[in-house]
Amino acid sequence: MLHEVADGVWVRRSEWVSSNTTVVRADDGLILVDPGIAGADLEDLADDVDALGIPVVAGFSTHPHWDHLLWHPRFGDVPRYGTAVNAGIAASARDRGRQMAAESAPGIPLDLLGIITPLPADGGPLPGELIVHDAHAPGHAAVLLADRRVLLAGDMLSDVLVPMFGMAGADGAGEYAAALDLLADAATGMDAVIPGHGTVATGGEIAPHRGRPCVRRRRAAGRATRGRALGSARVTIPPARGTAIATRAGCRGAP
Ligand SMILES: [Zn+2]
Repeated sequence: MLHEVADGVWVRRSEWVSSNTTVVRADDGLILVDPGIAGADLEDLADDVDALGIPVVAGFSTHPHWDHLLWHPRFGDVPRYGTAVNAGIAASARDRGRQMAAESAPGIPLDLLGIITPLPADGGPLPGELIVHDAHAPGHAAVLLADRRVLLAGDMLSDVLVPMFGMAGADGAGEYAAALDLLADAATGMDAVIPGHGTVATGGEIAPHRGRPCVRRRRAAGRATRGRALGSARVTIPPARGTAIATRAGCRGAP
């Protein structure tokens, strides 16, 4: 079922890793962001979209992981956009993505996975602005809908998905810290933050501020060592709804 979290912005939650599909009303129709996950979810989503009575004009993929590269014939033969990096990876890793999807998402049309077109420089039909970084995945794009006061965070700021460092290259932790700076700025003043997986944060649950996020590194299996400060920004979701990021301030030297 779609839940409207802001004017013309709806979210549907799937059971698999609490995945969120976001439906955005644009000037000419609907944009489906990261539709997923299993075939039954996509059918339900198509029913809900039909009920809105607004045509689907495009899709958008936040990043090139298989669970964000799905589509269904009922959404129509429309462009499915992502960053150029996303489109390139999705194309080159399509077989691998299909294999992973087949193992986790029954009933999906595998032949439609990963067909992504680079978003035009003017944004095409997608409203708002992209916040592009290489944390979590290369070419990852959050979507800031400032006029609706909504941030679509992709697979960042989740209360169910652990931060995944090192997926973008040699300095994954650094990439992650830099992305948190960008997202902390973007989330400021928003009424809703929608993660790719997990709880939609609203109102006072969004508390961007400056701090010292840290991770614990392991030098040997089973033995936690000192925390390491990563950067200068964090976004905290109150404990009642979970928190996405390690939030101990001043953690240098912490156990
Ligand atoms: Zn994901």
